[in-house]
Amino acid sequence: MNLKRISGPLLASTLFLGVAAFTVHAQNGYARATGQPVDDEYTKKIAEYTTEKFFNSPLTDYLPASPNVPTPKAVLGDVAGAPGKLPYAEDVYKYMRMLEKASPRVKVFSIGTTEEGREMIAVAVASETLLAKLEENRARLNKLADPRTINMDDAEADRLVDQTFPIYYITGTIHSPETGAPTALMELAYRLAIDESPYIKSIRDGMVTLITPVVEVDGRNRMVDVYNWHLAHPGQNWPPLIYWGHYVAHDNNRDAMGLSLKLTRNILNVYLNWKPQVLHDLHESVPYLYDNTIGDGPYNAWVDPILTDEWQLIGWKNVSEMTKFGMPGVFAHGTFDTWSPGYLMFVAATHNGISRLYETFGNAGADTLTRTLSPDEYQRTWYKQNPPLPRARWSQRNNNNYEQTALLISLDYFNKNSKLFLKNFYLKSKRSIEKPKNEGPAAYVFPSDDPRAGNQARLLRLLQAQGCEVHRATASFTVTIKKKGVARPASRASASPSPAASPAKAPEPESRTFPAGSYIVRMDQPYSRIADALLDHQYWSPRDPQQSIYDDTGWTFGELGNVQVERVTDIKALSAAMERVSGEVRSPGGVSGTGSIFIVNSNAETNLITLRYQLKQAAFEAAEEAFEVAGRKFNRGSFIIRNASLDQVNRATSELGIPALAVAQAPTVKTHPMKAARIAIVHTWLSTQDEGWWRLAFDQMQVPFDYISTQDVAKDADLNKKYDVIVFGPGNGNVNGVIQGRPMYGNPIPWKKTELTPNLGGFASTDDMRPGLGYTGLMNLQNFVKNGGVFVGADDSASFAVATGFTPGVSIQSSTRLRAIGDVLKTRMVDSASPIAYGYGDTLSVYCFNGPIFNISHVVGGGGRRAGSTQRTTGRGTADDPDVVQGRPPAEMPEQPPSTEVWEAAPIMEEQRRNLVGLIPPNLRPRVILRWGNASELLVSGLLDGGDEIAQHAAVIDSPLERGHVILFSMNPFWRGQTAGSYALVFNTILNFDNLNAGRKLDEK
Ligand SMILES: [Zn+2]
Repeated sequence: MNLKRISGPLLASTLFLGVAAFTVHAQNGYARATGQPVDDEYTKKIAEYTTEKFFNSPLTDYLPASPNVPTPKAVLGDVAGAPGKLPYAEDVYKYMRMLEKASPRVKVFSIGTTEEGREMIAVAVASETLLAKLEENRARLNKLADPRTINMDDAEADRLVDQTFPIYYITGTIHSPETGAPTALMELAYRLAIDESPYIKSIRDGMVTLITPVVEVDGRNRMVDVYNWHLAHPGQNWPPLIYWGHYVAHDNNRDAMGLSLKLTRNILNVYLNWKPQVLHDLHESVPYLYDNTIGDGPYNAWVDPILTDEWQLIGWKNVSEMTKFGMPGVFAHGTFDTWSPGYLMFVAATHNGISRLYETFGNAGADTLTRTLSPDEYQRTWYKQNPPLPRARWSQRNNNNYEQTALLISLDYFNKNSKLFLKNFYLKSKRSIEKPKNEGPAAYVFPSDDPRAGNQARLLRLLQAQGCEVHRATASFTVTIKKKGVARPASRASASPSPAASPAKAPEPESRTFPAGSYIVRMDQPYSRIADALLDHQYWSPRDPQQSIYDDTGWTFGELGNVQVERVTDIKALSAAMERVSGEVRSPGGVSGTGSIFIVNSNAETNLITLRYQLKQAAFEAAEEAFEVAGRKFNRGSFIIRNASLDQVNRATSELGIPALAVAQAPTVKTHPMKAARIAIVHTWLSTQDEGWWRLAFDQMQVPFDYISTQDVAKDADLNKKYDVIVFGPGNGNVNGVIQGRPMYGNPIPWKKTELTPNLGGFASTDDMRPGLGYTGLMNLQNFVKNGGVFVGADDSASFAVATGFTPGVSIQSSTRLRAIGDVLKTRMVDSASPIAYGYGDTLSVYCFNGPIFNISHVVGGGGRRAGSTQRTTGRGTADDPDVVQGRPPAEMPEQPPSTEVWEAAPIMEEQRRNLVGLIPPNLRPRVILRWGNASELLVSGLLDGGDEIAQHAAVIDSPLERGHVILFSMNPFWRGQTAGSYALVFNTILNFDNLNAGRKLDEK
């Protein structure tokens, strides 16, 4: 029997009683307070804005009244979730601070600012007694979080657990179009502070609920602007939310590994400082409530199984209770795989807490709408026994009801089992420390002779920011490691292993000595799991039952950072002489030697370009060959700097951690000047997220650029006057979209700062988002290159350049089998004399998501003949014999084409060459800098299937166009702050923009 059916009419008749002196909702232990008055006005509005009774629960279908504490109405002018009401972050904060002022059970903490300087907050709600004990409780939580402090003593842990109250951290609206959480969390904070119902009182007395109501504050305010514009322009198309945060959109929830965004750092710091047991992130994209943490396989391979059990415990309790309330569309499992640790909630998962996530249903704004679902959303499945309705009126209030009801159930369950979860928190921390002697490894070692000390320090600083301890060897030490070059077992696991199959031979170990000064990330520390998750390799079987993959499959940070990292299982590593690094890891920098000329080695580090722009007035030259000075070796591409003072150079290089050698006389080596290029980064008005990661890296490296749109390009017939390099990041979709923009139907769609929309515009602005690059823009861009400019494109923006005639000699082969799903693949150096390659070694691991498969030709439109491309026909002799025509002497056989590699152009034979109008002059032929690895070595981390399709094809190409260059990437060199190793491919291009032909050997034919 459905209890809700009985209580419904009863509820309606008691709505106006003022005092809810009844216990009909005592079901499941969620009884209301007897004797506490109800805010009738507010309660009435809740019912009015809830579109069906079963879209609410007894937990949220009323609001208790307080004589002195304001309800959300004080700020909103209406109840939480009311139609048409979408508060700015500042309004939400205003309310939280009103609560803080009126109630001793609420405390508001400022937790940092966003990229655009807006405040982020965390609100703690608990009884006054608990809030008074926050600091002493923190001391206990710190001990449970680091069991080394209590000598891993379980009995002591039990005593601490007894005295400790836990913390449950809820974060809202990281995804800006998912708009419901802030009002739900305003009301939730009120309920937790005011409601005297036994279960809420128990939550308040037993634990701290910590709330960040708005995670993406910049994006929230833009979203509210857009919504307000929509309200003010009924019947018109409103601006799509092209920018959420300053840099990225949806990917702000993929930053928990790279920590590039301030919101991630701020939430992580709250996590590390408060030691909550749960981080619960609120989203809205699925009807009506998807408790998605349990999700589907494959699960992340580096988290403790205790955690995955906790997901099940809390998640199923949630589903089960809401099922009893008769609320449709509540489920767990579903399509989310739990492999990547990049989601914000994973801050908890990788730091011994519990990650949780809801997808509720939102209308991307506060309009009440009739929503029609697709069959895959409303059909009943094994994990969705009471699915959502195929069609229903849906309001923001419904959303707020679901969010709050589910959270209250979770808080109640968590509170009732708080000792279990605190003990688990301790156990997970302890097991993280015990990692070396259980599953391993013992440590990750960063050798001190890594040629890229700067990149190394950057990665170690990331680990430090993640809360990891870093040590440094004070003497050299020797450990046993897995022998290099031992491939993974070639045979795939089969369903029925053949009994005759011999077991895979264990790889032979070898010993390796690491020099003093090497960095050691010990795995016997509480946050070993995040280090392990970031530094280890990933393998996703192409035959995994999970074929709809949610996100990236590989991310190995050492590989993508071009940093040497050794995974050491030998426990001896832990007894090496070492000391803990205090403060941030820094690479050594500054000037040594004497003289007025400064030499800086080129080693493909991310921040060499920073030096160029910091010393903008100085004269920089790049050496075109390697050379030696004073017994020190310098790579090709090394900087020779003049016209800068010792003080200037010393200050900049010390700060950047770049060593510079002062000399009196410049080395005798061929050089070319390196001017500080004038750069534009171009965006479309279709999508800006993926280029946002490029912008972010440029800003981090303090590389100045103008940020222009395709519409600006269309208006400027002389781009060379302003720019030397135009960077067009990926993520814009197909050529037609870039050129056409959005369809010109309906009204203009502005994106600009106005009184109504104060948070739009600013760094990118237009009166109408619809027009694209257009054919004029395309001509302007092409003329820019022809007149000597450099164009950089990657993935689809590289395909754009190929498709629109920027790259005679490059074509793209369509892929039929390739599945490189956000993984790490190996490339090999082809032309190390190219300035783009300066400082790199023979191989480089890069990020690939089904990159374009480039083919190279010496003829416009393709052409040429590969050796062996024609097979012999039927005839006399063996397979490699010539056929013989009977009755005449054997004919002279023409010369066969020389054999060429996949990444090379096929030779043009004499016969093809005659009157060949499309034959590209040698100096204008595409120059391949890097190519993809061979099929057998291509996969470094993640999922790769059909890799032979892209194996050995060109990966980075410098394709001349008249006087300029088009640089094409079939990888994404700037991705989520995870690919620092490939940044220098683009930065080298910029540094050497007007000498990209350096070191080029021309084909004579
Ligand atoms: Zn979301």
